[in-house]
Amino acid sequence: MALPPLLGERLRHARAWIALGVLTPLGMLAVSGLMLLDLRQDAWDKAEVTSKNLLQVIERDIARNVEILDLSLQGAVENLRLPDIEDLKPELRRLVLFDRSATARDIGDMLVIDEHGNALVDAGALSPRQGNYADRDYFRVHEARDGLGLHVGRPLVSRLTGERMLPFSRRVTKPDGSFGGVALITLKLSYLARLFDQIGLGRDGTINLYLRDGTRIMRQPFAESDIGADVADDPTFRRFLDAPSGAFVAGSAGEDIERHHAFTSVGDLPLVLDVALATRDIEAGWRTRASTLGAVVLALCGVTVFLSLLFGRELRRRDAMQAELARLSWTDALTGLANRRRYEEAFQAAWADAVRRGGPLSLLVVDADHFKLFNDRYGHAVGDTVLRDLARCLSASVSAPTGLAARIGGEEFALLLPGTDTDGALRVARKVHAEVSTLGVPSASIRPGTVTVSIGVATGHASAGGNPEALYRAADAALYEAKAGGRHQTRCAQAPFGPGGPGARLIRALRA
Ligand code: GH3
Ligand code: MG
Ligand code: MG
Repeated sequence: MALPPLLGERLRHARAWIALGVLTPLGMLAVSGLMLLDLRQDAWDKAEVTSKNLLQVIERDIARNVEILDLSLQGAVENLRLPDIEDLKPELRRLVLFDRSATARDIGDMLVIDEHGNALVDAGALSPRQGNYADRDYFRVHEARDGLGLHVGRPLVSRLTGERMLPFSRRVTKPDGSFGGVALITLKLSYLARLFDQIGLGRDGTINLYLRDGTRIMRQPFAESDIGADVADDPTFRRFLDAPSGAFVAGSAGEDIERHHAFTSVGDLPLVLDVALATRDIEAGWRTRASTLGAVVLALCGVTVFLSLLFGRELRRRDAMQAELARLSWTDALTGLANRRRYEEAFQAAWADAVRRGGPLSLLVVDADHFKLFNDRYGHAVGDTVLRDLARCLSASVSAPTGLAARIGGEEFALLLPGTDTDGALRVARKVHAEVSTLGVPSASIRPGTVTVSIGVATGHASAGGNPEALYRAADAALYEAKAGGRHQTRCAQAPFGPGGPGARLIRALRA
């Protein structure tokens, strides 16, 4: 497919390729960066959804079990108000007070405790296992206050079985409204441990269940010392109390692990459930992908930059080579002056310019006198040296950048002087003679003044008609006159130079 001309032109420059080589990787880096940010966001979105789902599942499980357990407690408290309940045989009384929930796997003890703290009815034994519970928190709380409803106590070790339990209790109120004891059901903490254990949360993930007063009930991964720990002053825990549910990222005191916490209250209970995924676990998969993708993109960027720089360098070399070739194609190898080709192009351009601007254009044709003799006497190499020195004299006589000195034949030169009238051209001719008069080749014993030149001058005015060829012929004819007049002099042709021959009437002969 062909490129649009402007684009094609731009792509030929080394700078365009270097700019492309830098901009393309920058673009690639920007796109990859955005992609990686997007992937990271995906990982976080997924983690947040996972935490939320886990939170819901666990919360519902606990809430449902506690609800069932509380129904049993409420049943027991209500049935205690039945008349004659105390007269029933212990076995019957046990059946009336406690339903079959006592046999559930995760239920620990189910007791009715009298107002003195002694076990009155024990779902686990026909005659209540002896013990006094007046010192237990749940007992004291109900004793001190009526109307607490369901009370969730701190984790404790059962005096009957030695297992860790979470006590749920309701107050028993006597018909006269006074404190009549406590109905108690304990939930084995092994239930929570088992529930939490089913869930894999990565290497540094945790699940916590707290009482709202800051007592930790269970933690996964499990450590004995965590149970019952008071975290009320922990800044992370305090944030759980700010809202019924929510999520945030926080560092963990003493662990140097940052986690995403999703938390919720459990039903209407004074419990807070927290599912925490470690930030580094959330981002682990993303990090692996990011480092692979990053490495590939960086490598591609590096290759792109390298290739573009290489290509740019080659283009520069090519440009330099082309410029050098162009220079060589315009330059005379021996003297370093413009060659005939360049002179002809410059002549045409200068004439066109003169036509446009309407100014004069002068041409000097300079020819070394009796040059053949120098070659014959001193050899060709010395002849070359003289030609080079002559070229230097001509260059020194022309003011750059408008004037141009060219070698147009073996020992014949031309000076093109745009914007220069006859007087100016004759001044330049005098300067040429003066410069050449200083030329000498000491190594060949050629003294200054030995080398001379003849000059033919013609000045054209494009507005007065004529053409470059006629101007040249006039200058050449003037040169011929200078030679014929004895050499070492300048002759000037008079304008106009009409078509069909030089037509030059020579008006002035100048001795150099
Ligand atoms: P005139 O004054 O009439 O111009 O005499 P002339 O000898 O200069 O002119 P002619 O045309 O007879 O001879 C020109 C000589 O210039 C012949 C040639 O050997 C010499 N020549 C031409 N090109 C070169 C060159 O590149 N190097 C050297 N060393 N000599 C050159
Ligand atoms: Mg000559
Ligand atoms: Mg000649």
